[in-house]
Amino acid sequence: MSAPKRALFVDWGGTLARTRDNRTVVDAAGHPVLMPNVTATLRRERPRYDLCFIVSNQARISKGEISDAEVIGRFAWANGQLGGPFTGWRLCPHTDADACDCRKPRPGMFLELARLHGVDLSASTHVGDSEKDRDAAAAAGVGTFVWARDFFAWADAPSRE
Ligand SMILES: [Zn+2]
Repeated sequence: MSAPKRALFVDWGGTLARTRDNRTVVDAAGHPVLMPNVTATLRRERPRYDLCFIVSNQARISKGEISDAEVIGRFAWANGQLGGPFTGWRLCPHTDADACDCRKPRPGMFLELARLHGVDLSASTHVGDSEKDRDAAAAAGVGTFVWARDFFAWADAPSRE
C-alpha cells in the first residue's frame, strides 16, 4: 500500500458552479456557469494535493428533477474546462428524509473516497460554501475546511450578476 495521500475535496453548487434556487445555473449551451476565479485558483492550488474530488449533495436526483447522468455530465464538462484537475467525484442523490450516510453534513462521501484512494483525511482540505460542507468535513476528520469565498478570493472578484 502506497503512502496516504492528501486530497482537495471541493463542493459543487455555490462553490465551483453558480446556483440559483439550489439549481445549477447553465448557459445557453446547457453548460454550468462556473464561479469567479475557479480556473486560476485550482490551477494554483491543485498541485499542492495528490488527489482532487468534487463532493456534492444532489437531492434533486431523488426528486426526479435531474438525472445522475446529467449531474455527472456537468462534473465531467467542468473537469474538461478546468484542465482536468479532478481525480473523480461523488454525489449524494438523497434527501434529508432518506437519512443516508452520504448526504452532507454526514461524512459518507469523504470516508468512501478516502477508503478507495488511500486518502489521509487529516492532511486533506474541503472547500465549501455551506455549514453542511463544514460540518461534513469535521465529521469525516478532514483536517482543514476553507470557505469557498476565501479559497476563491471572491471579495476581490468582480460580481457577474
Ligand atoms: Zn446520500
